[in-house]
Amino acid sequence: MLLTDVHAHLDLEEFYSDLDAVIERAQKAGVKAIISNGLNPESNRKTLELSKRYPLIKPALGLYPDDAVKLTEKQIKDELNFIEKNKDKIIAIGEVGLDYKYCKKKQEQEKQKQIFIKLIKLSKKINKPIIVHSRKAESDVIDLLKNSNAKKVILHCFSGNLKLVKIAEDISYSFSIPTNITYSQHFQKLAEIVDINQILTETDSPYLSPYKNKRNEPSFIIETIKKIAEIKNISINETSNNIFMNYQKVFSID
Ligand SMILES: [Zn+2]
Repeated sequence: MLLTDVHAHLDLEEFYSDLDAVIERAQKAGVKAIISNGLNPESNRKTLELSKRYPLIKPALGLYPDDAVKLTEKQIKDELNFIEKNKDKIIAIGEVGLDYKYCKKKQEQEKQKQIFIKLIKLSKKINKPIIVHSRKAESDVIDLLKNSNAKKVILHCFSGNLKLVKIAEDISYSFSIPTNITYSQHFQKLAEIVDINQILTETDSPYLSPYKNKRNEPSFIIETIKKIAEIKNISINETSNNIFMNYQKVFSID
């Protein structure tokens, strides 16, 4: 089985005690790549370290919107430089985006947008795909990506309405579908309407587990594949092969 997890956070403390075993289980399950996404300067450095230790882990570096707004202009500039300096070691820019859930003030939303625009520009400059988070801000996210003419876009865990899904699909963005598709009707619907060639799979480990009250991990990615296969009415093997090819294409893997 060819499986990929294009969005996880293996640097987080939930994995401190047993990452070796987590990686081993992923390998046994057929996972060929796990894209671990950095969230802030500290998390970016840890993510790079992990990728040195475990070949299965492909690093993406980014600034999570809630973390990014806490940084000074200078810190943001330094981090963008750090990401650019490491461009040959990373597979993508991520996790970046907009999140208005705990950010209701217009001024702070504006700051999130300005940082996001800089990260989109950087992804174009270093020619890397961009892995995008959006919460309560889906339409702004699509607008900014469109206006910046971003091409290699992966919408992670996209919760926008189906009209926005259609718009994003029409401009060739990819959707990475999380493991909680096992019970989330929204993601089941998304898997139904989006072309299989624009679908990727993710766990968002340690979050969004397919099993309630259990930490998520990359070996559970098979649960997403099974559900998509059922929804698209194709075999599990065909589904995983197709999504693996999408992964290779989006991330320019030979
Ligand atoms: Zn995430």
